[in-house]
Amino acid sequence: MNVARNIEGAALASAPEAPSERMRRVAEIAARHADEVDREGRFPAETIAALKREGLLGVAIPTKYGGEGLGTTAVANLIVQLAQACGSSAMIYAMHQIKTSSFVMHGEESQWHRAYMRRIAAEQLLLASATTEAGIGGNLRNSICAVERADGRFSLTKEATVISYGKYADAILATARRAPDAASSDQVMVVIPTDGNLTLERTSVWDTLGMRGTCSDGFHLVATGEADQIFPRPFSEIAAQSMLASSHIYWAATWFGIAADAFNRAQAFVKQAARKQADGGLPPGGLRLAEGAALLQEMKGHLAGAIHRFDAAKGNEDALSSIGFAAEVNALKVAASAKAVAVVQLAMLITGILGYKNGTPFSVGRHLRDVASAPIMISNDRILSNTATLMLMSRFDTSLGE
Ligand SMILES: Cc1cc2nc3c(=O)[nH]c(=O)nc-3n(C[C@H](O)[C@H](O)[C@H](O)COP(=O)(O)OP(=O)(O)OC[C@H]3O[C@@H](n4cnc5c(N)ncnc54)[C@H](O)[C@@H]3O)c2cc1C
Repeated sequence: MNVARNIEGAALASAPEAPSERMRRVAEIAARHADEVDREGRFPAETIAALKREGLLGVAIPTKYGGEGLGTTAVANLIVQLAQACGSSAMIYAMHQIKTSSFVMHGEESQWHRAYMRRIAAEQLLLASATTEAGIGGNLRNSICAVERADGRFSLTKEATVISYGKYADAILATARRAPDAASSDQVMVVIPTDGNLTLERTSVWDTLGMRGTCSDGFHLVATGEADQIFPRPFSEIAAQSMLASSHIYWAATWFGIAADAFNRAQAFVKQAARKQADGGLPPGGLRLAEGAALLQEMKGHLAGAIHRFDAAKGNEDALSSIGFAAEVNALKVAASAKAVAVVQLAMLITGILGYKNGTPFSVGRHLRDVASAPIMISNDRILSNTATLMLMSRFDTSLGE
């Protein structure tokens, strides 16, 4: 890893370079391989190796456990940077950061999880997620499978229909019912290191329209381990207080970055057309570009507002579990996923055949296919129906803040 230098040029070994500078180097590598990763539907191994090399997998772990203690805005900015280079790489990084946030917010009270946080930072471990289950779909707050505990150990079998980069992760965080006799919503989350007692038998292959590099195959998952690997807090609290918000924020950051890159390509196209135009008038795509800029601005404002609200609520369990907060982060997911698609579609209208074709400087086909996953990554209809229930119990907060 490169190190910062003081004004005399001496190396400051303890102070790593700014994360954004390290991510700039990773993004260059990701951009170089993005088309091939997409075409072949292969894991972006070069990007993940670079993230590890640059120490960017542990940045959100608190400094006392060997990380850099980055907050939500800083992590979201890193995701946006990477998403402008490769959507799949950014989604992998976002999902890793979502899982990391569960450790940061809910791992402190358990010795096992504190020790694992140190490992994430020191060994640059990559975390994956197994919430989706056959028969449950994206209904995150219900499980069919259950952990069974005996003699300080647990066992779990799960039909996990989608585990992104499951074959490449260092640990999988899986949801399950607390016990075989527990209700479907009485869930826990367990950390399953892939170098431990875990077998993953592939049951489906991720051959999709977009986000092809996430390699989100389905697996028959069988694991055993120490009962201490189960987060002490119920999953209902983890979901409400960290996972819902961090998922919607970091996913939205990914979609914002992809849309921004498509927009940049469209902008370059319009600028080129303007230079060629003898009369100095506005090229045909100009108005569409302004429309796209307004949508991006809306996405940015919504994302920044949700991050601000999340950070302000941290440490306050009532605020984090409030109906207003859940409705706001749900709205972010639904709005950002729809706007990202709209921006990329505008970019394609502007760039025309050069945007539609692969391999031109203005190509946005990969962007369009990648963001097409956004509205179905936990279906917007499912999220809207959850919000609708919340709306029956609350009033819309019209305050614009301090
Ligand atoms: C790129 C990508 C990566 C992913 N990675 C992971 C991962 O690593 N781990 C993981 O666990 N999951 C992952 N998922 C899965 C994801 O999180 C959801 O579980 C999945 O998108 C839901 O799939 P589904 O459409 O089959 O399911 P369902 O949730 O069953 O929805 C099916 C359809 O039913 C309708 N529907 C369902 N409920 C309602 C409702 N209440 N109101 C109205 N309509 C409804 C909707 O039209 C919906 O499209 C990933 C998904 C994507 C796109």
